[in-house]
Amino acid sequence: MEITFLGTGTGIPQDGRVQSGVLLDTEKNLLLFDCGCGVLGRIHESRHDHKAIDAIIITHLHLDHVGDILALLKANWLIGRTEMRIYGPQGTKEWYAKTMEVYDYLKGRFSAQITELSPDEEFVPEGTNGKCNCSIRTAKTVHTDNSLAYHIESNGKTVVYTGDTEPSEEIMELAEGADVLIHECSFPLGFPMTNHTTPDMLTLMMEEYPLTAKKLYLTHLYPHMQGRYREATDHIKKYYKGEVIVAKDLMIVQL
Ligand SMILES: [Zn+2]
Ligand SMILES: [Zn+2]
Repeated sequence: MEITFLGTGTGIPQDGRVQSGVLLDTEKNLLLFDCGCGVLGRIHESRHDHKAIDAIIITHLHLDHVGDILALLKANWLIGRTEMRIYGPQGTKEWYAKTMEVYDYLKGRFSAQITELSPDEEFVPEGTNGKCNCSIRTAKTVHTDNSLAYHIESNGKTVVYTGDTEPSEEIMELAEGADVLIHECSFPLGFPMTNHTTPDMLTLMMEEYPLTAKKLYLTHLYPHMQGRYREATDHIKKYYKGEVIVAKDLMIVQL
């Protein structure tokens, strides 16, 4: 399995970080987790083919996680691919229908087959050529009413991607023994915040529910984190024995 961080930023622009997007290559399938603004360009820069993506899997419907989905579907259509599978939380169908409503000229050009998910579901995504070679579990996150985290298993390797969230017991459980946990870390140490994560919020959770994932990648970094990365990883390392890495756009991780 190969992870490509496409976008490690948030709703506020900054150098080198576009909005949320993580590409998972299972050797047979390409799965795109979240697709915020800037992600389509990053797919191209990563030298992956946007037309080859099997499915888009969304953590929640905030603009910095879905902003480039229509742009991606349109790009596919322009080069001859007209369908896409989308998996997302409750509300994804309504979001898609309402968004498409605005773009008259795109109507009938392409279609999306949408599956809405709830917490604690397990599924095998349907790819362009039948079932994908991975199994995915969902868990609720502390962000919106329906936001989801994903546990992806393929060829004996596991990755957990939180999307936006406060640290939570569910996520610690979901990440038990995982090879990689991709956890959001929006704001720096001591920053007063709810619905997102700071390093100290994460370690407070780790004290009660020790993190057993082998590696931790921090993503969804607000500009406030600039200059505070080292402080974040140093702080987390006091509570966690695994490797802690601040993700960057276009960083590739082989599993
Ligand atoms: Zn959000
Ligand atoms: Zn976000």
